Amino acid sequence: MFKHKKKFGQNFLINKDIIKKIADIGSINKNSSIIEIGPGSGNLTEELLKRNPKGIFAIEFDKDLTSHLDKIKNNYSNFNYKISDALTFNEKSIFKKNSIIFGNLPYNISLKLLIKWIYSDPWPPFYDRMILMFQKEVAERIIATPNHKKYGRISILTNARLDVKFHFNISKTEFNPEPKVESSVLSFTPKKNASFQLKDLSVLSDLTKIIFNTKRKMISKTLKKLLNEQELKIVDFDNIKNLRPENLDFSFYYKLVDLIKSRS
Ligand code: SAM
Repeated sequence: MFKHKKKFGQNFLINKDIIKKIADIGSINKNSSIIEIGPGSGNLTEELLKRNPKGIFAIEFDKDLTSHLDKIKNNYSNFNYKISDALTFNEKSIFKKNSIIFGNLPYNISLKLLIKWIYSDPWPPFYDRMILMFQKEVAERIIATPNHKKYGRISILTNARLDVKFHFNISKTEFNPEPKVESSVLSFTPKKNASFQLKDLSVLSDLTKIIFNTKRKMISKTLKKLLNEQELKIVDFDNIKNLRPENLDFSFYYKLVDLIKSRS
């Protein structure tokens, strides 16, 4: 029925039970304003619409899906969509606050999209919740905690502003066409009191880039380059110098940002 386009990451989820399970996570009611990224064949969209939300606005890049999405629009007055690139689309132009973002994300841009939403301004953001599907390997990096091999920049950036929850994995056989890898569904809620402002996030992003660049090495050399004597004392350098970046807690990285911010 649909010509799948690899360049758009079009792997459509075909198992109806799994589609229902994803929709369930959103606890949708008549007040829900939903933004869906990449509706594709509309399989998840129609499941969400059955639950009578206030509105669903979908952003789809592939203009060849227009006539299909028009059919959905004709059947549901609370559905609308735009052919546009989700990476540059301004979601706030549609729903100013309390939105739920749903997306079985195109794998090639999934992390870029997550980063875009982490960097939302102002904070708390226009969304209350995000229910997103990633490649399993990427999901593991997002939810990783200290002392795990996959812990790194994206885990730390995510944790700065979002609470994240793992829901379930999805086998590649549940898609058409079958992707090369397994998938995982995660949900996110904004930390309401996150003290991280945009410029702090940029500092955190730069710092973690430098530090995780030498992921396998002990932290001492990098920290000595980044911090002055007094700052080294504040982070208890002597006690942590033999650790690797993956052994240091989220709070360590957030403290580094504070130190750098407070330089006059
Ligand atoms: N929602 C469907 C499902 O669950 O089976 C399709 C998911 S498919 C993995 C990803 C969808 O995102 C495709 O429909 C694809 O065309 C669309 N897409 C790809 N790049 C996009 C972009 N930059 N902006 C918006 N949609 C995009």
